[in-house]
Amino acid sequence: MSTLFKRTKILATIGPAVYSEQAIEDLIMAGVNGCRLNFSHGDYKERDQQIEWIRKAAAKKGRSVAILQDLQGPKIRLGEIQNNHFDVHVGDELILDNSITEHDGSNIIPVQYNLAERMKVGEPLSMFDGKVKSHVTDIVSKTAVKVKIENEGFIMSHKGLNLPDTDFGGDIITEKDMADIEFGASRDFDYVAMSFIQSAEDIDKLRQILLSHGSTAQIIAKIETKKAIENDEVMEAIVEASDGIMVARGDMAVEAGNEVVPTVQRKLVALCRKHAKLCIVATQMMGSMVDNPEPSRAEVSDVANAVIQGADVVMLSDETANGKYPVEAVKQMKKVILYSQNHSYAMPFKDFVKSIWGPNTPGNSTPADPVHERYTAMSRSAARVAEQIGADAIICQTASGATAAAIAAERPNVPIISVTSNARVAGQLALCYANSAFVRPYSDTYGIDIAQELKESGYIPAREDGTITVVLVSGQPNTEGGTDTIQVRRI
Ligand code: PGA
Ligand code: MN
Repeated sequence: MSTLFKRTKILATIGPAVYSEQAIEDLIMAGVNGCRLNFSHGDYKERDQQIEWIRKAAAKKGRSVAILQDLQGPKIRLGEIQNNHFDVHVGDELILDNSITEHDGSNIIPVQYNLAERMKVGEPLSMFDGKVKSHVTDIVSKTAVKVKIENEGFIMSHKGLNLPDTDFGGDIITEKDMADIEFGASRDFDYVAMSFIQSAEDIDKLRQILLSHGSTAQIIAKIETKKAIENDEVMEAIVEASDGIMVARGDMAVEAGNEVVPTVQRKLVALCRKHAKLCIVATQMMGSMVDNPEPSRAEVSDVANAVIQGADVVMLSDETANGKYPVEAVKQMKKVILYSQNHSYAMPFKDFVKSIWGPNTPGNSTPADPVHERYTAMSRSAARVAEQIGADAIICQTASGATAAAIAAERPNVPIISVTSNARVAGQLALCYANSAFVRPYSDTYGIDIAQELKESGYIPAREDGTITVVLVSGQPNTEGGTDTIQVRRI
């Protein structure tokens, strides 16, 4: 087994704790493969600055680093609260009003979304990441609802609300998201993630909007609503409609219950492996490291389990954005990933699926598409050959990234060096399992020249006899689905 590269990647959220080019360079050197810019916070000037820092730091270190634009979606927040603190008690009634911006200390609280338009009497509403629970007792005006509080606690300015039973009627892309999409389309984003999606149709809509703005970013569906995880068919349809998903465990736990999360995570990782889509496991993976220099045993175990399940990516949120130990959190995560991958195989797909669904494993809902079938067959074979002969690397020329993703979907124990002439594709593959992406012109030597170069530079270390063995995957230049050649070479 190759112990060199970490096959599961690290996505780090960028925030105040890493607010300089040097800080971002430190993250990359510690093992970060992608940076998430959370559009729930911050302004465009700050975004441009961060994009510039990330691109500069990555170029300086010769790494491909993905940048992900994370859209807020219908994440509803409270407005400004007087003195940033308001106590609530069981039985209290609050009015959440979208038409006011100032809180005068009374029970009329400003909220940044017109709840009266969507909510019905009886529906639950929680505030402050689920810390304060309530339900709607009245729609008091065109812009305000009344809620009754169910536990002791307090609320603060801008804290998020969750409406787990409220149907957004396919209307989840807000005005803010539209503005952010327009901004993002002219910027250097490899991925766009959409929060609170409820169905595959939400993703289709987003894709049309992105295309109409000329965006080349791939779409990540953040899975965090009850509707999205209601049944396995809906989940699979969302996976198929997207380029990847995020197991957004923070809001998922609040909306659907803590106990739901581990099982849904396994299902989503399995569905992504089945369809060769990117799978990101997110939120509180090293949560205690916001304040402490060491993770808890439970957190270490959480990261290791994601690796063994075969997740493409594990994510850090507050740990890197606001924590005291951003670089240390990345290092600890990397250590767990390397140990886990080098001492345990990613669960073989068939066994993994059986361990989740038993004999009733859901069928593939996608009709066979000949182009898809072809690169899947080629990719499977390449991964098998490489594993069986114990190759040092698979070198894959890929125009769209689809061949590289299909090889990765086999979760081989061999690093995949993907070579593409498209910088956007390289950025996207930076997050793909076991992939290391290089931007190079198409090589008509099947990638032998690249193998030689990487051996000489020590990137693929030579064995005792001075050689490396590689599996080369190539095909028609810049043609999607054009993969037609697998070669084994000793160099
Ligand atoms: P968020 O998404 O951090 O943007 O809320 C992740 C999650 O909900 O877990
Ligand atoms: Mn969320």
